[in-house]
Amino acid sequence: MTTSGFPGEFEEETLPGLGEGEIIVIRSARRKKSISAYRQGGRIVISIPARLSKADERVIVPEMIAKIRSQEQSQTPGEADLARRIDELLTELAPEITIRPISVTWRPMRERWGSCTSVDRTIRISDRLKLAPEYARDYVLFHEAIHLQFFDHGEGFTKVLSRFEDSELATAYLDGYEAAERALLAPTELSKLP
Ligand SMILES: [Zn+2]
Repeated sequence: MTTSGFPGEFEEETLPGLGEGEIIVIRSARRKKSISAYRQGGRIVISIPARLSKADERVIVPEMIAKIRSQEQSQTPGEADLARRIDELLTELAPEITIRPISVTWRPMRERWGSCTSVDRTIRISDRLKLAPEYARDYVLFHEAIHLQFFDHGEGFTKVLSRFEDSELATAYLDGYEAAERALLAPTELSKLP
C-alpha cells in the first residue's frame, strides 16, 4: 500500500487476476458424471470426467466459467459500494478527515492491496480483495482513505489507522493471502518475483 504512483500496474493486467483468470481443466478418471468448478487463487479450476468428449467439453467449460464469474459478481461490492464504505469508515473512525475520494476503482493489482493519489483524490483497490472478508477489505479501504489526508505512514497516519479495531486480523489475512499466492506460483513464475 503506498501513496506513490503504481509502476508496473499495467504489466500486471495480463497476470491471472480475478477478471482474467487462467483456466485449468482437469480430466479426472475417478469422476463418472460430476463436474466441479472452483476458484484457486487467480485460477479457475474445472474438473470434468475423463471420458467427456471434446465437443461436450467445449460447451461445458465456458458454462462453468460463466457460472463462477456470475457467482463472484454477485458477491463482489461495486465501486459505488467501495466509495460508500470509505465514507462510512471515515465518518465513524476519523471524523476529522472530511476529504472524500473522487473515484474508487477496482484494479488488477498484484503487488499492492491498494493505492491512493491524494492530488487527484483517486483510490484504487486490488481486485484480489473482491472476495475477501469484509474486515480485510475495510482495512485496506480505511488505510487508503487516510492517505487522502496524510501522504506518508508517519505519526499522524498511524494514529488514525490504529483506530481500526480488526487491524491484526486484517493484516494476518492479507499476509496469509500473499504467502499462499507465492506458494501456489509455479517455480518459473516465482523466479520473476522481485
Ligand atoms: Zn499506505
